[in-house]
Amino acid sequence: MAFSSGTAALHGAAAAAGLGPGDTVTTTALSFSASANAARYVGAAVALADIDPDTLNLDPAAVPRDTDALIAVHYAGLPFDLRSLDTRPRVVIEDAAHAIGALTPDGAVGNCAHSDMCCFSFHPVKTITTTEGGAVTTNDRVLADRLRRFRHHGIQQPSTGPAWQYDIEELGYNYRLSDIHAALGSSQLRRLDAFVAERNRLAERYRSLLEDLPITLPPEAEPGWRHGYHLFAVRVDHRRRVYEMLRSRGIGVQVHYVPIHHLTAYEDLEVSLPRTDEAYERLLSLPLFPSLGDADQDQVVEALRSSL
Ligand SMILES: *Cc1c(COP(=O)(O)O)cnc(C)c1O
Repeated sequence: MAFSSGTAALHGAAAAAGLGPGDTVTTTALSFSASANAARYVGAAVALADIDPDTLNLDPAAVPRDTDALIAVHYAGLPFDLRSLDTRPRVVIEDAAHAIGALTPDGAVGNCAHSDMCCFSFHPVKTITTTEGGAVTTNDRVLADRLRRFRHHGIQQPSTGPAWQYDIEELGYNYRLSDIHAALGSSQLRRLDAFVAERNRLAERYRSLLEDLPITLPPEAEPGWRHGYHLFAVRVDHRRRVYEMLRSRGIGVQVHYVPIHHLTAYEDLEVSLPRTDEAYERLLSLPLFPSLGDADQDQVVEALRSSL
């Protein structure tokens, strides 16, 4: 179901799941703020759990057994293994903003094999774009109906009676995706596989060009999985200096992300996440997009090599 943004999609998923005051929603701090904001929009409490430094996704053992809900982020496009949780929380929502086109042994991310709902973003920096846009997938008809109402003011229309008649039991929003944006999206969707294949090819090429450098390469997808490679985030020492040297050479490196517990709005959580902090200190995303090309990639590698 299309939404006006990935953030609106996450808000819709949290609302459709019935999350609200009194509920705790666990997510990772190594994500864009929207992953946690979604819980706060509906009045639920956010709990941030630490990551597994090998995958940069949540450490399944750090997810509290008694959490009401989990918002699982597939960081950089590497799917979080939802089968690795010992107890499945009441509500499981995937934030797959990085992972469209990624695969798990159970099929495509978004098939909700181990979740209630899966959210995507079509913001311009993402793998496919509608300029602004998002989507939620689910296999549950009741959730689908709630999502549809939430997106369209909460409006319920009786199947019989005059056309003007409608009712609202629960408030909704105008979170629809316009037809023009949706048309862009359907055309992009047809190219999704080619985009993700090219991202994987460039990522493999980065790996072979960078393997002798004193940096940590991103985690790879296990056999049976496909990485979405929204990001190619290496870990380097003296990250600030390396970042500045590359930027001064016109190379669009970036850092994903300021951990959510460092944001003023989340200061009150007073949580300590040493493995997230340690990864954050060294993370640096290298340019990765299908039109990058081998020659540009060689330049990035050369610049990185000389800045280390
Ligand atoms: C981009 C992103 C979002 C928000 O998507 P928008 O379409 O920009 O609202 C949410 N979560 C993650 C992990 C993202 O990267």
